[in-house]
Amino acid sequence: MSKSLWLQTAYSYEAFPPLDTDIQCDVCIVGGGLHGIATAYFLAKQGKDVVLLEKDSILAGATGNSTGKLTVQHDLIYAQLIQDFGHDGAKLYYDVNRDAVEFGKDFARRDELITANSILYAQTTVGDEQLKQEAKAYQELGIPGELGRNSELPIPFLSTLTMEDESQIHPVRFGQSLAEKAVKAGARIYEQSAVLSMDFEKRSLLTHTENQVRFSELVLSTHYPIEALKGMQILKLAVDRSYIMAAEANMALSGQYIAVDEPKRSVRTAKFDGETYFLLSGTHHTAGMKSETSKYYESLYTDIKDTFLLSSFITGWSAQDPETPDLIPYAGQITSSLPYVYISTGNRKWGLSNSIASAQMITDQIVGKKNPATKLFAPSRTKAGAQLLQALKLTGLVLKEFTGGHLTRIDAPICTHLGCRTRWNNAEETWDCPCHGSRFRKDGSVLEGPATKPLNLT
Ligand SMILES: Cc1cc2nc3c(=O)[nH]c(=O)nc-3n(C[C@H](O)[C@H](O)[C@H](O)COP(=O)(O)OP(=O)(O)OC[C@H]3O[C@@H](n4cnc5c(N)ncnc54)[C@H](O)[C@@H]3O)c2cc1C
Repeated sequence: MSKSLWLQTAYSYEAFPPLDTDIQCDVCIVGGGLHGIATAYFLAKQGKDVVLLEKDSILAGATGNSTGKLTVQHDLIYAQLIQDFGHDGAKLYYDVNRDAVEFGKDFARRDELITANSILYAQTTVGDEQLKQEAKAYQELGIPGELGRNSELPIPFLSTLTMEDESQIHPVRFGQSLAEKAVKAGARIYEQSAVLSMDFEKRSLLTHTENQVRFSELVLSTHYPIEALKGMQILKLAVDRSYIMAAEANMALSGQYIAVDEPKRSVRTAKFDGETYFLLSGTHHTAGMKSETSKYYESLYTDIKDTFLLSSFITGWSAQDPETPDLIPYAGQITSSLPYVYISTGNRKWGLSNSIASAQMITDQIVGKKNPATKLFAPSRTKAGAQLLQALKLTGLVLKEFTGGHLTRIDAPICTHLGCRTRWNNAEETWDCPCHGSRFRKDGSVLEGPATKPLNLT
């Protein structure tokens, strides 16, 4: 598996120590991606005694493998949100993400963020019609945006919808700066400290080194709910894996693009340390469902070479993000019976702004400040129809793979989360679980949850 461009060009920093003693704190945050770090920063600034535990290195999960677009243009979304949540719900989603982008712009250093227009493009008449509906939604919500023909890409298109002055970040450097500020504000960060079990009643957890952390409040920022939460969110999340390739470029684009129809492509450039890079992504599949994954890279490689006429490839990587059934992430108290346990997940590949927004919401809940978006993002919200659909889709998949897991143990190792059969991923050299997206390294160790225990490879 290759390191992303962002992880290859991170600031050099002194690693945070592993936890090697028992401790206690006001708030324990599990997971050192953008959500965990932003939450640590906001809470520490509010005077809370915060501990953050990261199982590997901070920012090496979805955040460090993302495309780095920090924008409120989340593909096609606002027309659908108006339909499902009404004008006020859609506007609130926009507002909290707008605030998150503005926070990013204020906070970031020069080599961590640049301003760029966010542009949706349509290649088909269906996509063109969708853009018109989306533009109508922008108008209804008062979102600045312009329908037209505004693309620098050598890709044939019918129309575009532009939001001006959005931003793109170097997600790892941005997160590193935020972590540094969180520590300055008093947060304690520990790396190489995997959480293996939690006792909600006793408000304590254990790391893999059997060190105990006692907390008043717990924030689960593990990207996907970790194993200890079996059954709570599990049936309501679908996980999609996407591929990204980076090449050297000779000029920066002024826009960052995403196709609303097929072939799905997301394009941006990045400029830092005097170099310009080109990033292409868009090939994807349900996480864990494919063994022959090299074709997803090959397709991007061909486009970069033949369409964008670039030939100096740097690296290719892949990542996955869970999705809720109704487009809005889950952020907040996990259930009313555990009011001191908070979660953030289900960002649908738009989790950079959503992570910051969710971190603010959870912080407000913890410090007792009213936040208008709490209800909209509440994990306990019900949307019976959409949930049922998603549950059926996922349950079908889970049951099939679960049964397969128990019948064919000799073929591939069994996922330690819920017993599904994993699949060998040829290009990444990982064991991937199709049920809930857990991933394991060649040696069986956990790369991505919800699983927390290694595979039995014997
Ligand atoms: C291909 C792709 C491209 C994307 N591009 C964009 C984009 O351009 N713009 C955008 O807004 N969003 C994008 N996203 C979405 C965004 O990257 C994520 O939603 C966001 O980074 C999630 O942050 P997080 O902190 O929740 O998760 P992560 O960054 O994954 O962090 C979770 C952390 O928890 C740790 N962890 C897990 N289990 C444990 C445990 N048991 N103990 C301790 N630590 C644990 C992990 O090691 C990890 O570091 C993209 C996603 C993908 C997959």
